[in-house]
Amino acid sequence: MDCFAALIAQPSISSFDPRLDLSNRTMVELLATWFEGLGFTVELIPVQTEPAKFNLIACAGSGPGGLVLAGHTDTVPCDVAAWRQDPFRLTERDNKLYGLGAADMKCFFPIVIDTLRDVDLTRLRQPLYMLATCDEESTMSGARALVASGRQLGRSALIGEPTGLKPVNRHKAIIMEKIRLIGRSGHASDPALGINALEGMHEVITGLQQWRTAIQAANHDPAFRVAVPTLNFGSIHGGDNPNRICGDCEMTIDLRLLPGMDLEEVRAGIRRTSMQAVDGTGLTIEFESIIPGIPALHTDSETEIVKIAERLAGEPAGAVAFGTEAPYLNAMGMNTVILGAGDIEQAHQADEYLALERIKPMQGLLGKLIKHICIDTQP
Ligand SMILES: [Zn+2]
Repeated sequence: MDCFAALIAQPSISSFDPRLDLSNRTMVELLATWFEGLGFTVELIPVQTEPAKFNLIACAGSGPGGLVLAGHTDTVPCDVAAWRQDPFRLTERDNKLYGLGAADMKCFFPIVIDTLRDVDLTRLRQPLYMLATCDEESTMSGARALVASGRQLGRSALIGEPTGLKPVNRHKAIIMEKIRLIGRSGHASDPALGINALEGMHEVITGLQQWRTAIQAANHDPAFRVAVPTLNFGSIHGGDNPNRICGDCEMTIDLRLLPGMDLEEVRAGIRRTSMQAVDGTGLTIEFESIIPGIPALHTDSETEIVKIAERLAGEPAGAVAFGTEAPYLNAMGMNTVILGAGDIEQAHQADEYLALERIKPMQGLLGKLIKHICIDTQP
């Protein structure tokens, strides 16, 4: 509990807005001290692209195979005024522990640490890793840097993101795109005096709606509550006056894609469709990716980690609607399952909490997982 309170007390917000973005250095330094104390060898790895951001890798044991317990050290920003208590002070009330990141996902580290107090590290036959990353809530720079480094960690991985103790092996990919049309403004009384970007964007929307119908007809996965890929029209801004031809219009869209869909192919489809929609109008079109894109996750149901997680949790692995670092870990050669003590309903909300009753079951589950993979099984 002291560890949990210390992590909550340390703000580690990551944000696309540089005014809100903070270093996670103190967070990883705390974790480094605690894992060294448990007998792990610890590395703090600066992320080259982001000053003052770090990944932590702690390792016990050696050899092939191995289990990685992974979590992100950052949280989303918070509106302090909306909280009933200080978001940076772990507060117990009604059998719940409140604090920013309590569920998503600072709780994971103290739960792992408490579990490890009962594990005899001298008996490990396969290595056990703790991985703590930065910027999961924003750019995913930590996970990207790990993939780029070519590091090999364990064969199996568990990420303690909030899933209400249910195993998850699938999620959708996420991309967000901006489309901008530049025309020419002029007096509203004569259309020939300008090129109307707003009318052009109407054609782009119509084209993208038809394209969406086609990709939804071609892609379907009943494991997801929303079983098709989605395209949301999120914002549109353009023009300034009713009596002036709209010279400039900008729209943002969000797409959630099923596992197996190629992100770059989808981006190319959006761009091709939009360009065709305004072909011959004289409008200039520009595209920008708002985020680099989070790949979809699909860890094979037959992998050891998914099967063990299903057995320990007592239910089959499912699909969730949020993105995680799991596809990056899979790209590093791991098989990754997501399973954590918090609930996603509390994540990114004021008065975020972890129910106290979740802690013991999560510890039990992690203890059995470590024993099964790292102690009982020959690599
Ligand atoms: Zn999270």
